[in-house]
Amino acid sequence: VIVAPVVLLLCAARPAPPAPPPDPAKTTAALVGGALSDGLTWARIADLTDRIGPRLSGSEGFSRAVAWAQAQLASEGLAVKLEPVKLPHWERGEERAEIVENARYGAQPLAITALGGASSTGPGGLTAEVVEVESLEQVAALGDAAHGKILFFNPVMHVAQDYGTATRLRSHGASAASKAGAAAMVVRSLATASFRSPHTGLTHFDDGVAPIPAAAVSTEDAERLHRALQTGPVKLHLLLTPRTLPDVDGFNVVAEIRGREKPAEVVLFAAHLDSWDLAQGAEDDGAGVAMVLEAAHLLSHLPRPPRRTVRLVLYANEENGLAGGTAYALAHAADLSKHVAALEADSGSGRPQGVTLLAGPGGAATLAPLLPPLAVLGAGSIVAGEAGGADISTLAPAGVPFVNVKQDGSRYFDVHHSAADTLDKVKPLDLALSAAAWTALTYALAESETTLPRAEPPPAVK
Ligand SMILES: [Zn+2]
Repeated sequence: VIVAPVVLLLCAARPAPPAPPPDPAKTTAALVGGALSDGLTWARIADLTDRIGPRLSGSEGFSRAVAWAQAQLASEGLAVKLEPVKLPHWERGEERAEIVENARYGAQPLAITALGGASSTGPGGLTAEVVEVESLEQVAALGDAAHGKILFFNPVMHVAQDYGTATRLRSHGASAASKAGAAAMVVRSLATASFRSPHTGLTHFDDGVAPIPAAAVSTEDAERLHRALQTGPVKLHLLLTPRTLPDVDGFNVVAEIRGREKPAEVVLFAAHLDSWDLAQGAEDDGAGVAMVLEAAHLLSHLPRPPRRTVRLVLYANEENGLAGGTAYALAHAADLSKHVAALEADSGSGRPQGVTLLAGPGGAATLAPLLPPLAVLGAGSIVAGEAGGADISTLAPAGVPFVNVKQDGSRYFDVHHSAADTLDKVKPLDLALSAAAWTALTYALAESETTLPRAEPPPAVK
């Protein structure tokens, strides 16, 4: 009762002591502890997947996801910006396929799903002979033999690393088939496991090339189609009725934690908010979204903000157009030279295995000393592998260095882009470990005394 006023007087008489400089190692330990114990990353991915669900750009689900993300970031006390993006609006319709004419096999249904961006067969469907091809070059060489046919690509994915080459056929095969005069294109699902579930994805038509119907068949049915073709000619009946509607207004969701010393310098940490329409998009990319929100939570509650600004971006339209990444690079063109690093979490919920880097010469020597505090998470050193992400690829011409937590992706393509991409596939501990690693890496880059050497811009295309 007597002491209290004296203490108050003493406090009032002295200037507040300067806050001690943040100790990066202690701060990192606190961030890791928070991510591993607060349960928030799991709570958020569960909410996004079970309550919002599928969120293809242009859909009602995507609009709901934007409102949800805005509310999550606002709940951390952050000012949220919705940056406008024009979004494509493609809607799946009916989808059926069957082998209708083959001497040995007779009529048999196939499990099939339309590829994003592809056109409709019309309500009556189409029936045509199947020609199996192995490469885009082979399509071009077919000549008249492609006319009116259904071209069938059958790329086998044994492991996740096969996605890069296989995806070229899904992404560009329909355009090549259309140019060659084919009626439609069918591709084996790009998947490392299957319970007869087809896996969708975007197929891109080059400028001036008319879209044609295109679809993915389950790996099991691709094998069967391949076997049927060994016995003689095969005709397929395809019914696909997707629609491309007028573009709609959408948003990238952006928030930031302003840097205490160098607020103009930006470390960007991103994921994509959209998903395919077939499932909840838990692995692709609900996990990334939940991890970015966890970084928002932990970094906004530090006693002192990091040296540089951390900008959190949840992109629109990664899956079928990249309009979000393109819009961000345009809107921020003037300050991309101040983006000192960009990170994109878009490889599911697997546990950390290291850190990947794309920067200028000397980048590894700059980054390596920041990583020991992440060793406890399995991400204490630089490992081989690609760094970057589809959305942040639009920052490459500005030389922005890319840094990623490499996560275990060995099971990612079992469910990717299929109806099986649901919350139950996510292991809570692995998700929390990865959230901790991405948050700690973002913090390390934002707090570091030095910045990474800028990357060599890639050669211009065309
Ligand atoms: Zn993704």
